[in-house]
Amino acid sequence: MPRSYRGTAKDKFMPANLDVTHAVSLRSWVASSNGHPDFPIQNLPIGIVSFQSEGPRCGIAIGGSILDVRALLKNGLLDGDAAAFAEAASGSRLNGALALGSGPRIALRRRVSALLQEGAAERAAVESCIHEAESCAVLLPAAVGGYTDFYTGIHHATTVGKLFRPNNPLMPNYKWVPIAYHGRASSIRPSGTPVKRPKGQIKPPDSSSPVFESCRQLDYELELGIWIGEGNELGEPISAADAADHIGGYCLLNDWSARDIQAWEYQPLGPFLAKSFATTISPWIITPEALVPFRASQAPRPPDDPEPLPYLTDPVDIAHGAFDIELEVLIATPKMARAGQGYHRLSLSNARHMYWTPAQMVTHHTSNGCGLNPADLLGTGTISGPGKEEAGSLLETTQGGRAPIVLPSGETRMFLEDYDEVLMLARCHREGFASIGFGVCKSIILPSD
Ligand code: MN
Repeated sequence: MPRSYRGTAKDKFMPANLDVTHAVSLRSWVASSNGHPDFPIQNLPIGIVSFQSEGPRCGIAIGGSILDVRALLKNGLLDGDAAAFAEAASGSRLNGALALGSGPRIALRRRVSALLQEGAAERAAVESCIHEAESCAVLLPAAVGGYTDFYTGIHHATTVGKLFRPNNPLMPNYKWVPIAYHGRASSIRPSGTPVKRPKGQIKPPDSSSPVFESCRQLDYELELGIWIGEGNELGEPISAADAADHIGGYCLLNDWSARDIQAWEYQPLGPFLAKSFATTISPWIITPEALVPFRASQAPRPPDDPEPLPYLTDPVDIAHGAFDIELEVLIATPKMARAGQGYHRLSLSNARHMYWTPAQMVTHHTSNGCGLNPADLLGTGTISGPGKEEAGSLLETTQGGRAPIVLPSGETRMFLEDYDEVLMLARCHREGFASIGFGVCKSIILPSD
């Protein structure tokens, strides 16, 4: 077995830290997990689950089933650091468990991996702690105290910038500063929660005064969410070398956007009500450990781009700080459903299109001394690729509402209509490793009142 994860932060994501929990040969006695597109035994994401009895509590997804972590603890199947995580996670929020940092989380992963493997001696005892996922609801995993949305998708920033400034799409700060704004934590909801079309001030192009009406340009934004694990004290920045150790996990994030409201309100202070009506996330926390095989080096910057300032630069982050995660957006409309057409793909992108790494976002966020708390959530910004089929928002796909997309039902869309359902998926593939996924991030649009 390779050396422990408990080295320095610099060692944390080196390939040498792959361990037995990543072995492609691992199989579980939970039959539905073997070959499962999201939750094989190599993933083991953590969430808060409403099982059929008692209150919501920590669960771990395994194939089409969910493991009740509190039941494992009660049955005496956990000890040491793994038990410490389970105790901290025994309530209805994972804030306390996220605050523990990586050691207990890794201990739980290793123990649960062993318990779920084919041939595990404890199988009979663990079986009594497993529930069918269909009979459970997966809730918001933590109370989010603060939510910050970045803008690291450089193709998104360039395409959107071109709509407004054809000759100068990127602002001069873009390649120096990981740009972000403070979002609204109170409207973050787990996958499956419907989104009501917002109303707001909209200025028609042919009028000098705005109206207060239902949004007509409702859009999605394909992003990753970054869960903060251990926080930092006010006044104590997190260095680029330590930043990855302050990340507790990842999710999918749909940053719903009302483009017509946004266009009128956003200057000079940035997005406000165009974003704060809803943010949908996939509810499972995909751990940094599960993503180790899918780490990637930072994409090389074009020769004319500036080197990041030293406080944003760490050699391990340059070598391993990015991710290779396939990201997909799909749509279903009522008409498509009636015709049995299922989902239609709108976009296929990849997390490699981020200009800044998650560690650089954490470092920049705290570089002025700002404190991050456990279970704060960061959005990466819309992750679009360079091609039209890789755009992470309809604003880009339809070129600002000028070029409609045509759906298999014959319907067209510039922006989202009532009862459209948007589904986001994230999948990680690498030769020699088991593929894993994030589970679903989906929501249906309901009309305004
Ligand atoms: Mn966004």
